[in-house]
Amino acid sequence: MFRLDGKVALVTGASQGIGEAIAKRLAAQGATVVCAARTLTKLQQVADAIREAGGKADVLEADLGDSASVRAAIATTLERHGALHILVNNAGITRDKLLIQMKEEDWDAVLDTNLKGAWTAIQAATKPMMKQRWGRIINIASVVGQMGNPGQANYVAAKAGLIGLTKSVARELASRNVTANAVTPGYIETAMTAGLSAEVKATFTQQIPLGRMGTPEDIAAAVVFLASDEASYVTGQVLSVNGGLLMA
Ligand code: NAP
Repeated sequence: MFRLDGKVALVTGASQGIGEAIAKRLAAQGATVVCAARTLTKLQQVADAIREAGGKADVLEADLGDSASVRAAIATTLERHGALHILVNNAGITRDKLLIQMKEEDWDAVLDTNLKGAWTAIQAATKPMMKQRWGRIINIASVVGQMGNPGQANYVAAKAGLIGLTKSVARELASRNVTANAVTPGYIETAMTAGLSAEVKATFTQQIPLGRMGTPEDIAAAVVFLASDEASYVTGQVLSVNGGLLMA
């Protein structure tokens, strides 16, 4: 089940956290995984771990906040591996502030990386995916993109935008056997949430029916499913992986 042998995957933000877990799971299923982010040393560690486990990995320095860098990442993947089957738009940042304190650069930085970066990658990947009549676009959004969150107007707007982008792309590319889906993680234990106090984490956990924060592997499992042939009739969907925090 869920084998990905012969498939080439590009995972953005693969240097740590959820992206690292996604890269490792896709490789474990047989895909060649191109790990992209800004920090080459960390990417190399992830790629080494994949190879040590018997998988195939490559690394690519790319800045999702820079359109030229995103396009170059897709082009380099195609040059080096001859195809791109699975695009996972996972790279993301936060610049949390209440609306009245939020600066224009906080808005721009988050929208550029989390939404425009994904759009640019999708656009660059579309032609080769359409030509090969097989593609999987998987966008890592967030539960807060579905429910809103104080202090995160920029991040929530980007994640809600990513969900809308996913649905439009799904409708445009379905006839070419290219699917597009979003995964919306709830609160996941990574560097992004490491700064939260134990008190805040306890308050979140009380609201989660499954009684715990999620792990990067919880998200990676959903991505592997959506990337697989078994998910060939699933497109334009939002797969919530949030412990029951939001039941939409
Ligand atoms: P993380 O630990 O902070 O990792 C973020 C990843 O994105 C890193 O690999 C980082 O690598 C990369 N990245 C950031 N800016 C980049 C840029 N401009 N260009 C290229 N790569 C960039 O975060 P995470 O928790 O794993 O989150 C992964 C995704 O899940 C994000 O989209 C996030 O919004 C989403 N998410 C997370 C949670 C959660 O609770 N953790 C919940 C919902 C959704 P470099 O710094 O090396 O570039």
